[in-house]
Order: sequence, then C-alpha cells, then structure tokens
Amino acid sequence: MSVDPASLSYEDFVQGIEDRQRRRQLLFREGRPYFVLVSQQFSRADLEGLCDTATAIRRLDRHRDGVDFLRRILHGHRVMNLFAQPSTRTAESFIAAADKLGASTRLVSDMRTSSFAKGETVDDSVRTLSSFFDTIVVRHPDDDFAMRASWALARSGRPIPVVSAGSGKSQHVTQSLLDVYTLRYSFASRGGIDGKRIVLVGDVGRNRAARSLAYMMTKFDVHRLDIVCAKDHLPEGGLLEYISRHGIDVRIHERLAPALEKVGKEVDAVYMTRLQQEWDGDAGGTPDQKGKLGTNEDFVLHPEYAKYLRDDCVIMHPLPRINELPEPWESHPGFVVWRQVRNGMWMRSALLASIHGAADEIRARAARLSLV
Ligand code: ASP
Repeated sequence: MSVDPASLSYEDFVQGIEDRQRRRQLLFREGRPYFVLVSQQFSRADLEGLCDTATAIRRLDRHRDGVDFLRRILHGHRVMNLFAQPSTRTAESFIAAADKLGASTRLVSDMRTSSFAKGETVDDSVRTLSSFFDTIVVRHPDDDFAMRASWALARSGRPIPVVSAGSGKSQHVTQSLLDVYTLRYSFASRGGIDGKRIVLVGDVGRNRAARSLAYMMTKFDVHRLDIVCAKDHLPEGGLLEYISRHGIDVRIHERLAPALEKVGKEVDAVYMTRLQQEWDGDAGGTPDQKGKLGTNEDFVLHPEYAKYLRDDCVIMHPLPRINELPEPWESHPGFVVWRQVRNGMWMRSALLASIHGAADEIRARAARLSLV
C-alpha cells in the first residue's frame, strides 16, 4: 500500500521513516531519492548506482565534450544551501557539485539575515524558499530540521527535494555517501567493501559522520565493526542495536592503542573523528580539559601506531581534525583524507543528478565516450 506523505501528521512521517517498508515510499519518488535524510534509506543497489554515477561524472569532467554535457544537466536549476552551522567543506562541495551540473546556487549561512531571526516557522521558511529554488540543501543543529522541512514541503503545493547536509548530532548522510565511495575506490582491487573490517574512533556518539557511516555499513557484507570510544560518547538512539540486528558484530574499546595492538593487523580501514566539543555547552571540552580543543590521548592516532596497522589500511577522517590524526599520517600509503574531500564533490553531484533523474543519461554518456 502506498503512503502519501502529504496525508501524514509530522509524528507519523517521522515514524514512517523509522519503518523500513514505508521509508522508501516517503523518501523516494519514481524510484529516485527525493528527501535525503538518513543513511538507512539507501539500498545497496542505490549506493552502487550513486558510486557509478559519481565515477562517470568524474571522468566526464576531464573530457572536453563531457564538461559541456554535464553543464547542461541541471542548467536553469537553482539550489539553495541553507547552513545554520559552520561548514567549509560540505557547503563548498555542494556548491561545486551543483556547479559541475550547471545549476546556480545560493548559500545562506548567517541565520540572523534570514526570517528565522524574526521567529518564522520552519514550515513557512522552506515553503517560501521552494518558490525560488528547485532543491534545498540544509545543515542545522537540530536533529530533525531537515525532516521537518521535508514533511512541510511534501504537504505544500510546491514540493521540492530536500537534502540533509548534517542534522545535529544525528546523521550526515552525504558524508557517508562520499565515505562509501572512497572505501569502494580504496578496496577496488581487494574485492570492494564486503568482508572488510573498519574501526571507528572517537566521539562516535556525537559525530554524525561516523554515525551515518555505521548505518551505511549495514548495506554491505561487513561482519564486524570495532568502535573505540569513551563510555560517555557511545552512540545512542538505537544505532548499536540497529547494526547488531543487521548482522554486524560490534566491539567497543575504550582506548585506541590497546585496541590496535590487538586487532590492528586485521583492520582494513580506520575512521578517525574529532571530539565534538561544540555540544559540551559554554565551557567546551570534557571536565579535565575545559576550554582546550582536541581529544585526549586515548583517541589520538599517534604516528607510532603505524606499526600496529598494515600498510594497505585505509586512514580516513571527515575533517576538521584537531589533534586526533597528526600530520605525519599524510605519508602513510593508506591516507585518503584529501581524496575524501574531493570525492564529496563527485558524490554530491551524483546525488543531485539522481534526484533530478539524470543519472542514467550521465552513465550512458560516459559509456558512449568509453570513459567507464
Ligand atoms: N564535518 C563533519 C560534520 O559536520 C565532522 C565534524 O564536524 O567533526 O559533522
């Protein structure tokens, strides 16, 4: 039975997204993503398709005819980037991604200059934006802002797609898309992501990038996930139960060095994250380190820990990094952090193209030019 989001209360819409059967009907239209809110919404086939589209775009972008072709894909489209939290990479990468496809973009990052400052509701604000734009990309400190915006637009007379670019402490779904793309690329000659072992390190509970990646790992044949995390920063909101329910054996470690000493050689990727001190209130930092930025010794990947890892172990970080991934790691053969940044642009382009129904055309053009 199909579910029309326009007929649901907000609470039912949120519950519907929790439910695997109804989620797709609420977040996809004509088989394409429309509201991009949670990692769980993508099937494995969706993820493979997005990765293939990103590769096609990346290669077309290096080809003279390809560049012109790409620029016509979203020509005349307007993308609003509404960023109510700091961002360098994500905002710029969405802008570059839309640019590659010929769309024009606008960035609003100072909420004091928007009508939110006058107390306008989310519903009215996004309904107003939909009068001028064809897609809204939103980052907001509230976990449910993008969800609420999607629901409000689904009920409006002029719905447009919404893409979450970071929802509070909850999810950063486009970051996990680019992480999956980077992992797939890194493991291309080693059988892909299936069967690989990944370690998530740091403030996993409040790092939405790590949280989204953990959800996305359930789409692959990943049997075990090691999480190195302080007790206070363990993921909440059912994440651990979700991944266990999907057949992943989750092991928690409280300190990085002993964890790597034990399992390092079996590990295929280490995903570092920073301590999310912005959520600690005015003082910032944990009680033992008030005001000081950066995590403590237990969650720093010191250069000498390279001895615990294989040379082909992939080293990732969603950035920004503070002290947890020191600079010497840049010369490790598995260091792919700058590639992640660049991949963000290709994967977000692929996502925008898929939302607007251009993915098949892009892949077909790349094939015709023998680029894939
Ligand atoms: N850039 C990522 C985010 O916006 C990770 C971080 O800030 O630590 O969530």
